[in-house]
This record gives sequence, C-alpha cells and structure tokens, in this order.
Amino acid sequence: MSATLQQIVLASGNAGKIREIQALLPNYPIVAQSAFDITEAEETGLSFVENAIIKARNAALHSGLPAIADDSGLVVDTLHGAPGVLSARYAGAAANDWDNLQKVLQALDGVPDTERTARFVCVMVFMQHAEDPLPVIAQGVWVGRILHQPKGENGFGYDPIFWVPELDCAAAELSAEAKNALSHRGKALKTLVASIKA
Ligand code: IMP
Repeated sequence: MSATLQQIVLASGNAGKIREIQALLPNYPIVAQSAFDITEAEETGLSFVENAIIKARNAALHSGLPAIADDSGLVVDTLHGAPGVLSARYAGAAANDWDNLQKVLQALDGVPDTERTARFVCVMVFMQHAEDPLPVIAQGVWVGRILHQPKGENGFGYDPIFWVPELDCAAAELSAEAKNALSHRGKALKTLVASIKA
C-alpha cells in the first residue's frame, strides 16, 4: 500500500471496532461503511475467511475505497466447530446472545471439562479494491473452554460461557482493555495492521 494518506472503509458500523482499528492505523482515516449507505453483504460463506472477503469486497465495491472487514465467532471442538460461522444466529434468525449461549450449554450438557475445549476466532481481511486478487488475510485465535454456567456481566455474545485460561475467569469478567489484549480480534487486528504497513 502506498504511503499517501488513504481512507479505508470498514465493513462494519461498530463504533468500538472503528476506534480500535483507527488507533492502530493512525495514518489511514477509517470510515464506517454506513457513511456510504452501503447495505451489509449477505454472509453466505462456509468459513470465516470467505465471509470476511464477501464483506470487504462489498464495502470496496460500493465505496470505491480500500476496505477492511472481519468475521468472527465461537468454535467448539466437540460440536465439530459449531456454532462457527452461524455464531450470531445459532439458535435461529431472531435469537439473541442469551439464546445462543444457552443452546451451546445444552449441546454440552454432561460433557466433561476436558472435552469442552473451544476457541474464539477472528479473520480480518484488507482489500485494495473489489477485484483485488490478493487480499491481505490475518487470523486471530483465543483458546479456552466452555463453562457449565454463565459468569460475568461484561462483553457480549458468548463471553459469559468462555473460560479464559490465562486469567482463570470468564471472558465476561474481563475489562474491555484486558479482553482486547488477549482476544482473537485484538490478535487478528495487530497481525493485519503489521501486514498492511509492511
Ligand atoms: P461478528 O463477526 O461481529 O459478526 O460476530 C459474530 C458472532 O460471534 C457474534 O454475534 C457473537 O455471537 C460471536 N462473537 C464474536 N466475537 C465474540 C467475542 O469476542 N465474544 C463473544 N462472542 C463473540
């Protein structure tokens, strides 16, 4: 990527994500795709990387700018990777975070700790333009285990049932700063930024 000041569109409207990415890429103004009235792409991929590329391509196509997109979710080993790319809608299209985590707890009912291994995964993609044949792809993984009961009030999604081995607590018991320092999203973002700057 050239050293000129170049705006990058983010295929998300999440203000927290924009702030995090902007802090690590101070020379490239990050603009939310909502600023261009871009409709979110349908996530039809079977893997996180496919969905991240679909989102980045859609944002680049409709903005005419380079784009960054991410796709993330929870992967539970004994559930063959579920909820996976369906993490946001595991218990159905209208399900909320609580419904989704309860479905995971039910699916793991009676499963011992040693078999409750799981990981949060985040794939982040940078595309120069919609036809970019060589997207920059970065992956972040946070390994942990699924608890038997929800714990903690912070975070979102599956954080209350994700046990963090580094700190022996649930992800929902961490402050935002502590979570960013360990999380799949923080790792993917740092790797992506290093690749873009290289
Ligand atoms: P998205 O990548 O923002 O679409 O996230 C997909 C889904 O994965 C979210 O709706 C959550 O259910 C789950 N997820 C992704 N990252 C996290 C996290 O850091 N904590 C808890 N759940 C997450």
